[in-house]
Amino acid sequence: MPDPISTRPVAVCTGCGAFTRSRSAIGQTCGARVGAPRTRRCDGVFLVVVPEEWQQCRQCSGTGKNERKKCMRCQGTGWDRLAATTNVDLEARELIKSLYKATDGKPLLWRTIIGLSAKRVAVDHAVERGWIVVESSRSVCLTVKGARLVRDAKA
Ligand SMILES: [Zn+2]
Ligand SMILES: [Zn+2]
Repeated sequence: MPDPISTRPVAVCTGCGAFTRSRSAIGQTCGARVGAPRTRRCDGVFLVVVPEEWQQCRQCSGTGKNERKKCMRCQGTGWDRLAATTNVDLEARELIKSLYKATDGKPLLWRTIIGLSAKRVAVDHAVERGWIVVESSRSVCLTVKGARLVRDAKA
């Protein structure tokens, strides 16, 4: 485990996702050069991330390095954000909840995606986790796993 006080980042850029350990950067514009060929300046802002939202990076076991190279996943900090606390995750959970309602909790019942007013990223997130299946990007259905997740959340 890396030393929590000196190595843990305190904020994340809303634009490029960069971590910072500098408290003075909080609320400031990022300004990092992004894109190729790095001509654009990132206009994201560093927002505070509470200590509970960080975990040891699994990719490099908290060392910040993979085969002597800087770990890409944690930007060499040895710390990674907890996945379950992101907005996208919350939106994806809202999506499967409304899908659950629309299908009376029956998995594998197809509905059109239009009426669900879900953001594309939330849909992708739910698909990645095996909660839903999307067909020809219009029809969507809850998987057994997704239905169980909603049921468990209610219990
Ligand atoms: Zn940035
Ligand atoms: Zn790492």
